[in-house]
Parts: sequence; structure tokens; C-alpha cells
Amino acid sequence: MKIVKQDNQLVVPSIVTIPFIEGDGIGKEITPVCRFVADRAVQKAYGGSRSIDWKEVLAGEKAFKATGSWLPDETPAAFCEYLVGLKGPLTTPIGDGIRSLNVALRQTLDLYVCLRPVRWIEGLPSPLKEPQKVNMVVFRENTEDIYAGIEWQQGTPEAGKFLKFLTSEMGVTAIRFPKTSSFGVKPVSVEGTERLVRAAIEYALANQLPSVTLVHKGNIMKYTEGGFKRWGYELAQREFGKEIAEGRIVIQDVIADAFLQNTLLTPEKYSVVATLNLNGDYISDHLAAMVGGVGMAPGANICYESGHAIFEATHGTAPDIAGKNLANPSSLLLSAAMLLKYIGWVEAADLMVAAIDKSFANRRATHDIARFMPNGQTLGTVAFGAYLVSLIDETHAAADKPHGF
Ligand code: NAD
Repeated sequence: MKIVKQDNQLVVPSIVTIPFIEGDGIGKEITPVCRFVADRAVQKAYGGSRSIDWKEVLAGEKAFKATGSWLPDETPAAFCEYLVGLKGPLTTPIGDGIRSLNVALRQTLDLYVCLRPVRWIEGLPSPLKEPQKVNMVVFRENTEDIYAGIEWQQGTPEAGKFLKFLTSEMGVTAIRFPKTSSFGVKPVSVEGTERLVRAAIEYALANQLPSVTLVHKGNIMKYTEGGFKRWGYELAQREFGKEIAEGRIVIQDVIADAFLQNTLLTPEKYSVVATLNLNGDYISDHLAAMVGGVGMAPGANICYESGHAIFEATHGTAPDIAGKNLANPSSLLLSAAMLLKYIGWVEAADLMVAAIDKSFANRRATHDIARFMPNGQTLGTVAFGAYLVSLIDETHAAADKPHGF
């Protein structure tokens, strides 16, 4: 049964079809564990009255072996039809053609927000003295900026043509080595900025978070990054002036390099962060590294207007540990919990997150995490999933007990 968007709301059937891409490399290990844990959380939360009907769709190496295509047309079509999906990590094809399967999916569905919550969980190793102060949500713009893929390689006729246009028609003289330069174009628009900043502010208000920080390099790139800052502030005043005046939300900005330093020194100053594509790429992984690394960080790509959303592991296929039962499924698990929250199945999401929190508090984790925990107990990928399920069962049993028992 399909999720549909009606009157700006998601209408979710009690048996909901969720398309998923298993993923390459460790995807084969973490995705089954993720489905197993999510299914149990849903079953426990709703006593069997709701469930997920997982529908596998192909992408990456598995798709290439089965169909000869890295991204068969049916896959974006399924995400389009069912609105919400889950994705394991994919090998990036080498050579010409599709640059990145992830980018292709984001572009097809216009998933303009890359949402990355970053929170420290007790027990996680961190290079920070006070990691408990880290609690941020990054809104990274996903469709514009230097990542739009508009670039020409040095030495090609296209690069020569572009150089000629710049020098003879636009009066550009500042290209230091013109004959040997490659070129890239950085589009940043009013609409692109506004929909991203609007989504960030709406998220902050809905979750009663104190601030939205616009992170940019507008001091150097005045019209693109500087435009992002200016249009962001203007949108905030125009559409959320009342909430700002009432003190329900603070809009602030900071230059990206200062932001990176401040996140290490005073992370408590930041809550929701809105930023452009390239900054967002660096910032998301930088923040993730502060609270447990790539194996932990969840993420989603969302178009709030259409409702389309793909929740994904943010790390790659980890070929160095693939097939060894070492992979940490937490990134995909926390992404699946985000998915459940997004479709309104909050109780099931909470059960998943509570189980992960408890597992780390009990110092049980996969190798990447446990090796840095004092007295950490290493569990394989499958055993970690089974342990989470036992914690979900326990949590629910405890909640079921009448008071006083
Ligand atoms: P990677 O994220 O796969 O691995 C980097 C390091 O982190 C490795 O040491 C790996 O063992 C470790 N690691 C990653 N995920 C882990 C997990 N869940 N548990 C434990 N350790 C984990 O990055 P890479 O090696 O640069 O890329 C490998 C492939 O993945 C490439 O083809 C790349 O293009 C692709 N990739 C895909 C995505 C995606 O699908 N979203 C993201 C990044 C990279």
C-alpha cells in the first residue's frame, strides 16, 4: 500500500510498502539487519496493527550484474511512486556515464534537502572534551552549487570556448593560468536558497529548537554564498518575522571556517544549520567525526513539497571490511528510525533509537566503536542487530508492566 500526500500531509496506510536498495559491499550485511530491527520495533510499538512491506529495488553493482544497468529506470520510478524509501551504500561507477548514483536519484526526485542530524550518544568515542554538547541538524542544499556538475576539463574545446567567453565577452582577467585551467560553474539561486532555509526554519520550529544558523563563505564569494546569506535572512524576516519577534527562533549566520572552529570549541551555540552543497558535504562529515564517525551518522534526502524522501546510510560500501561481519549498521538503523518518524510512526522510531542508545551505554557495539570504548564488548553486525532486538523486547515489556511492578 502506498503513502500519498494529501492537503500537505502524508497519508500512511497501516501496511506500508517501502522500496529499498540493499546496497553494495557492506550493504548486503547492514540492510537485512536494519530491516530485522525496524520490523521488530514496528511490531512491538503497534502490536501487529502496522507493518512494513519491504520492496527491493535494484541499484549499483547488484543492478549492473542483474540488468546491465547501474540504475534501472524502475528504481527511481519506485521511489517516485511510493514516496519514501531506504537506501544502502552504493559503489560509485568508474568511467563515463553516471557520475554518482546518489546524485542521479537526488536529481530525479528533486530531493533538495540533505538532512543530517548529529548527536552524541553516551558511550560513543569522541575527540571532544564535552561531546554531550553536540546536538545539531544540518540542512545541506542538495541540487545547486559547484556540485551541479557544470564543469569542463582542461585542454578540451569546451574549456577553450568557455575561456574565450570569459576573457573576450565578460572582461575576466583574473585567471592565473588560463591555458591549463579546468572550469566549474557555481549556480546559487533565490528559489534554491529560500526552499532550503524555509525547510530548516520550519523544522526548528516544529521541533522547538532555538536557532537556525546560515553557514556560508559570503565574505569571499559575494554573489553566490553571500546571496545565500542575504536571501536566507530576507526569507526568514518575510515568512517567520512573527516567530522571530516572539523569540521562538533566532536566525544567525557565520562564515564556514569560523563555524568549523566553533563546532569544536562551543558546539552548544549551534542547533539547526542551513548551508550550501559543498560546505554541507564537509560540515556533515566533520560533525559526524566528532560523535562516532561515518558508521554512525544517519541521513535523508527530502523534497518537502512533494513528500519524496530517501533515507540512507551516509557512509560508503566499505570494501575493506565487506563480508566480514564487522560493519556497523547504526547509520542505516538511525536513518530507518528517521524514516519511521517522517511517516509519523514515532513510537517505533523511538524504540529503535532507545535500543541503540542503550547498547552503547552498555558498551556493546561493532568493532569500529567498541575498540575505543573502555571495556567495550565487540559484537559482529548480526549479533549487534540481535542485541538491539532483545533491547527492544525488553523496553516494551517494561513499558507494558503496570505501575508499581
Ligand atoms: P567508505 O565510507 O566506504 O569507507 C571509509 C572507511 O570507513 C573505511 O575504512 C570503512 O571500513 C569505514 N566504514 C565505512 N562505513 C562503515 C561502517 N558502517 N562500519 C564500520 N566501518 C565503516 O568510503 P570509501 O572507501 O571512500 O568508498 C568506498 C565506495 O563507497 C566507493 O565506491 C565510494 O564511491 C562509495 N561511497 C558511496 C556512498 C553512498 O552510497 N552514499 C558514500 C560514500 C562513498
